[in-house]
Amino acid sequence: MPDSNGRLAIGIVGCAGRMGRMLAKLVTETRDVQLVGGTGRPGAKEVGIDLGTLAGLSALGVACGDDPDALFAGAEAVLDFTAPIASLAHAKLAAKHRKIHVIGTTGMNADDVAALQRSATDATIVMAPNMSLGVNLLLALVERTARSLGAGWDIEIVEMHHRMKVDAPSGTALGLGRAAAKGRGVDLDEVAVKTRDGVTGARAEGTIGFATLRGGDVVGEHRVIFAAAGERIELGHIATDRAIFARGAVRAVLWARGKPPGLYSMKDVLGL
Ligand code: NAD
Repeated sequence: MPDSNGRLAIGIVGCAGRMGRMLAKLVTETRDVQLVGGTGRPGAKEVGIDLGTLAGLSALGVACGDDPDALFAGAEAVLDFTAPIASLAHAKLAAKHRKIHVIGTTGMNADDVAALQRSATDATIVMAPNMSLGVNLLLALVERTARSLGAGWDIEIVEMHHRMKVDAPSGTALGLGRAAAKGRGVDLDEVAVKTRDGVTGARAEGTIGFATLRGGDVVGEHRVIFAAAGERIELGHIATDRAIFARGAVRAVLWARGKPPGLYSMKDVLGL
C-alpha cells in the first residue's frame, strides 16, 4: 500500500543479486517510490542484512527477509529479477495479494508464460526479457520497418557482447529477428541464418542473417541492417550500463500503478 506520502511501496525479491542490488539503489534514488522490503532464498547469507548495506549504500533500516508471502502482503509492488521457477511462485503470491509484479527474469518458456497469464487474472504483471526502453523501442521500429520494406531488402542483425557471454545469438538479437519476421509475416525459424562458413552460395532472398561478435566488457550492442540495391537503412542500440534494465523496471512499476490485472509488456509501458 502507498505510504503516507503517497509513494509506491516497493519490495525486491532476490535483493542480493546483481540486478536486485542495482534496483535497490535506484529505488532509493527515485521520487514517488519507497523501498519497503526484500527477500533472499531461505538460509542465504544475505538474509538479515540491511538492504542499503547490500546495495553498497548507507543502512536503510530495512533488512533482507526470506518470506516472499509477507513481502507481497506488505508492498504494493514487487520487482523480480531472479529465476523462472522463483518468478512463477512469486506471481502466484502477486495474484493472492492482488499486487503489481514486475518480472525481468529471462528463460521463461511457453508453459511458464501460460502460468503467468493465469496469475495475471488477479495480479498486474509486467514481464519483459529486456527492460531497456531503447531496446523495446528498437523492436517496434524494426517490426515496422520490415513491414514497410519488401523481401527485396536483405535483413542482417549484428550483435556484440562481452567475452563472458555463453549463448549466441543474444536473446535480444533473436527478439529483433522475431520482430523483423513478424513485420514480414514470416516465421523466424524458417528464415533465420545463424552461421555462415566456407562456400555458402549467394544469399537466399527473404532470409534474416545473424552475426555474433564477442569481446572485452561490451554490455550489449545490436544493429539491424536493411540492405537493398543502392541503399541501406541501419537501426541500432548501444547499451553502456546495466542500470538501463533497472530504470526500465522502475518505469514499468510506476506505469502499472492503478492498472487492472493483466499480463503486460514493455510495449504497453511505452505505449507502442
Ligand atoms: P544474479 O544471479 O546476480 O541474481 C539472482 C538473484 O535471485 C540471486 O541473488 C538469487 O539468490 C536470487 N533468487 C533466486 N531464486 C530466488 C528465490 N526463490 N527467492 C529469492 N531470491 C531468489 O542474476 P542477475 O544478473 O541479477 O539476473 C537475474 C535475472 O534477471 C536473470 O534471469 C537475468 O537473465 C535477468 N536479467 C534480465 C534483464 C532484463 O532487462 N529483463 C536484465 C538483466 C538480467
